[in-house]
Amino acid sequence: MKEKYLLPAMAVGVFVGTAWGWVGGEAALSTAWIGDLFLDLLRVLVLPLIFCSMVDAVAGLYRMGSFNRIVGLTFSWYLATTVIAVTTGLVVVSVFEPGVGVSLGGSSAPSVPTTSVQNIVGSLFTDNLFEAAVSFKVLPVMLFALVFGLALSSAGERAEPVRNFFGASTAALLRMVHWLMFVAPLGIAALLAAHLGKAGGGAAFFAEVAAIGKYCFCVVLGLGIHGFIVLPILLKLLTGRSPLRYAYNLGEALLTAFSTASSSATLALTMDLSKKRNSVRSDTASFVLPLGATVNMDGTALYEAVAVMFIAQASGIEVSFGGQVLIVVTATLASIGAAGIPQAGLVTMVLVLEAVGLPADGISAILAVDWLLDRFRTTVNVWGDAVGAGVVDAHSEDVLHGPV
Ligand code: ASP
Repeated sequence: MKEKYLLPAMAVGVFVGTAWGWVGGEAALSTAWIGDLFLDLLRVLVLPLIFCSMVDAVAGLYRMGSFNRIVGLTFSWYLATTVIAVTTGLVVVSVFEPGVGVSLGGSSAPSVPTTSVQNIVGSLFTDNLFEAAVSFKVLPVMLFALVFGLALSSAGERAEPVRNFFGASTAALLRMVHWLMFVAPLGIAALLAAHLGKAGGGAAFFAEVAAIGKYCFCVVLGLGIHGFIVLPILLKLLTGRSPLRYAYNLGEALLTAFSTASSSATLALTMDLSKKRNSVRSDTASFVLPLGATVNMDGTALYEAVAVMFIAQASGIEVSFGGQVLIVVTATLASIGAAGIPQAGLVTMVLVLEAVGLPADGISAILAVDWLLDRFRTTVNVWGDAVGAGVVDAHSEDVLHGPV
C-alpha cells in the first residue's frame, strides 16, 4: 500500500471497526486480539524511542546552545495551553450545567487508586532504571535520558560516537514505526470494535451515553473548542502555518490517538509525521513530543475540570470561585501526573475531587462512558503536543541559526 492511501485506509478502519462493534456486540470481541497485538507493537517502540530520541535531542540542543531556550519555551507552552484548556472546560460546564438534576443515585465507589501531589513528584524518580522500564514508568526513564544527554554533551569529542549511536538508533526506530503503520487500519478497526463490543454493542452503549448525554456533550464541546479553535489560532498566530495542512499531515497520528486512547502508544507516529511532513526539526520534535506525551495533556485537563464540576452539580454542591481556581491548579497538576495510557485521567482526577472536597465515588457515574471520551481527549492531547512542537520549533529558529 502506498503511503498516500494510509490515511483513507485508517479512516475506513475507524468506520468498519465502529460498525462491527456496534452491530456485532459481544461477537466483536473475537477480533480483539488483533487490536491488542497492534497496541503491543506500538508500545514496544515507546521506551527505546523515548530514550534514544531524548538523549540525541538533548545532546544536540545543548551543543548548539539552545537547550535552555527550548526548555523554557516548551514548558511555557505546556502550562499556558493546559490552563487555557481547563478554563474552557469550566466555562462550558458552567454555561450548560450538565449535572443539575442528575442523580448520582447510590452509586458505589469504584476501585480507583488514589493519587497525590507527592505521588506525582515521586513518579519522576526511580532507584532502578530497568524496573521503571519494565513497569512502563516513562517519566523516570525520560529524566534519566535527559540528564544522560546533557552529560554526553559535556563529555566533548570523546562522546561523539555514543551520540551518533543514539541518533542512528532514533532514525531506525522511526523507520520501524513507518512499517508498522501499514497494519494500522486493521489494528484500529479491531480496537474500536472490541471496545464497543465490551460495552454491549452500539444500542446498549448508546443508552449509556444518552443517560448522561449533556455531560458527554460538554466534554466533546470543550475539547472541540480547544482542538478546533484555540490550538489552530495559536498555531497560525505563532508560526504563520496553515492549521488545516498541519492537522492533515498528522492525520494518521490523530486517528491512532483516537483508536488507542494512548498518547504514549501514538508517540512514535507523532514524532515521525511531525519531522517528516510538518518539517519540525528533529531535535525539537525529539524533545517536545516525548515530554509532551506524558506531561502535556490539554484534553485530559479540560475533561477533568468538566467531570469534577459535573459531579459537584449532581451532588448539589456549589463550587465557589476559589474552588474553581483550585480546580484549575489541581486539574493542571493531575493532567501532568496522568500517564499517556488509556483512562489514566480518571485515576488522577481523584486528586481534583479531593482538593475541592467532593466524593471520589462520584466517578462511578461517568465510568461507563469514559472509554469513549478518553479517545476524544487523547486526540486533543496529541494535537496539543504536535502544535507545541511546531510553535517551539518556530521560536527557537533564531537560536539554532543565529540572528536573522
Ligand atoms: N488516555 C489519555 C492519554 O493517553 C490520558 C487520559 O486522559 O486518560 O493521553
